[in-house]
Order: sequence, then C-alpha cells, then structure tokens
Amino acid sequence: MSNEQQLSLFKDSSIDSNDQKELIPKDAKIPIPTGTYANMTELAQHCDRCHRCGLGKTRTHAVVGRGNLKAPIMVVGEAPGQTEDETGLPFVGKAGQLLEKILASVKLDTETDVYICNINKCRPPDNRVPTTEEMDACKPYLLEQIRLVDPKIVLFVGATAVKGLTGDKRAISKIRGEWMEWDGRLCMPIFHPSYLLRNQSREVGKPKWLTWQDIQAVRAKFDEIQNNQ
Ligand code: URA
Repeated sequence: MSNEQQLSLFKDSSIDSNDQKELIPKDAKIPIPTGTYANMTELAQHCDRCHRCGLGKTRTHAVVGRGNLKAPIMVVGEAPGQTEDETGLPFVGKAGQLLEKILASVKLDTETDVYICNINKCRPPDNRVPTTEEMDACKPYLLEQIRLVDPKIVLFVGATAVKGLTGDKRAISKIRGEWMEWDGRLCMPIFHPSYLLRNQSREVGKPKWLTWQDIQAVRAKFDEIQNNQ
C-alpha cells in the first residue's frame, strides 16, 4: 500500500462532507441530499449566496418563503417578480395580494395555515418563465423546504410549479382542481393569480369561478384531515 493510500485511511469523512456542503451554493452539480439543512435559516443562508444558476447574478434578494414554518398547507408558485425581488418575500405584489384574497375567501390565514414559496428563489429577468436548468438547479432547496415544513397539502400555483416539481407538462387548464399525489403528498394544481388578473370575469366556468371551486375543495380537504387527526 502506498503512503498516500495509508494516509487516506485516517481521513475524517466529516471534513469531506463539510467541504461538499460549502460548494452547494456555488455549483448546481453538487447534490443537496435530504437532511442537509437543520432548519429554514440554514437553507436561507445558502440561498442568499447562491449561484447554482445565472439568476444569482441579477437578483436583489433571494426569496425563500414566508408564513408558518410548520404549516399544514404549502403554496408553491413560479418565481419572484419585481416586488418580491425588492422585498425578499414571495407573493407580495399584485398577484400575491390576489392569492391572499383567494386564501382568505375560505378563511385560510397566511401566517398560521400556510407557508408560501416558489420553484425558483431568484427573479428571472423581465419575469420570464424560469428555464428547466434554472428550475433543476433550485429544486433541491425546495425539496428541503417541503421536508422541513412537512405540509399535509401542497398547492401548485400555475403550470410552472407543477412542471418544476413533478415534471408534468400538461396545461394547467387540464389539471387544475384535480387532486394528485406527488411524493406521498396530496397536491392540488390551481390557476396562477397572475393569470386571474388577466382574466377578471367571475362568470360560471371562467378561471376565477373555477379557482373559487378549487379553493373550496382545498378547504374541505383541510377540514377533513384536521377532523381525522
Ligand atoms: N409570482 C410567483 O409565482 N411567485 C411570486 O412570489 C410572485 C409572483
């Protein structure tokens, strides 16, 4: 056995894994194994200095999440917009205000019942849809967020959220309102509030009306889960 091989037998593996952890925010090829983060603060510290994709270059703030860190319902959107990038908080612009109203319409409180986050933590320039590469680079952070919050219900807000997490590329109009199981969790895709802002009609069968049906179904399922606990 060479000297080098002999020395390697004494190597402390915790040093290796710490070095590896340091590389997470720098390189999308470095995996983020389940259990990497002990809490959301640790995870946010990595997001704040993350350059796993090009969006790190243009962000003002990484937007990690807001709400109850142990919420029974998790809302997953697409990516921060301008107001979110400026404030560091998800869904606080116009679309966010509508999301709050949708949740409040069935008495869901964003401070207690819900945790809100996005597929991507950094704002894509001009609010374009994040690329597959950008989504994949950020996805392991989201998987860790889901593990830490451990929600009973996940709301996929818009097609990008569905695609980013499950790989399902179907149009949101085809899958909204249908419960799907992903990762052993109950998930419901709904229209993105930005889409509802562009489609204001509340007529029966229109996107706003459909979303009202969907959020009532979410409320009913939430009540059912709580009653069975
Ligand atoms: N749209 C999103 O998908 N997420 C936000 O945080 C804001 C707008």
